[in-house]
Amino acid sequence: MEKWIAALRAQGFKVTPQRRVVIEALQTGGKFTTAQQVLEAVRQKFPEMSLDTVYRNLSLLVEIGLVHEVRTKGREGNVFEIAVAGHHHHTVCLQCGKAECLDFCPIHEQDLARAEGGGFKITAHSLEFYGYCAACRQTG
Ligand SMILES: [Zn+2]
Ligand SMILES: [Zn+2]
Ligand SMILES: [Zn+2]
Repeated sequence: MEKWIAALRAQGFKVTPQRRVVIEALQTGGKFTTAQQVLEAVRQKFPEMSLDTVYRNLSLLVEIGLVHEVRTKGREGNVFEIAVAGHHHHTVCLQCGKAECLDFCPIHEQDLARAEGGGFKITAHSLEFYGYCAACRQTG
């Protein structure tokens, strides 16, 4: 928690009580947490908090690199994970929405150099692999 607060302050953001409970909800929410799950957790302390506010706080945390957002394309919406593992990518099941972390980055230096061809400077990238997990492949 202290690390988060320091990171927020370092980038000039206030650590409001609402922001604090969003972070707490992510920390206790398990590996992948949906915005809805965060909302349910924060409403125990702030019953008037809206899903919009949760999303705004989550986007901020994603922007400053404390949280990863995984686009699951599922009914539940994107899931969020605490960015402890450093830069990495995910596989996402199109049927059940389950996400898994990959411990490697398949993007190579030379790919980035090619993408920067037109004078564009790349500072970050994100990438998800979509398909069907082992369990869904068996039942499907
Ligand atoms: Zn699945
Ligand atoms: Zn991950
Ligand atoms: Zn990568």
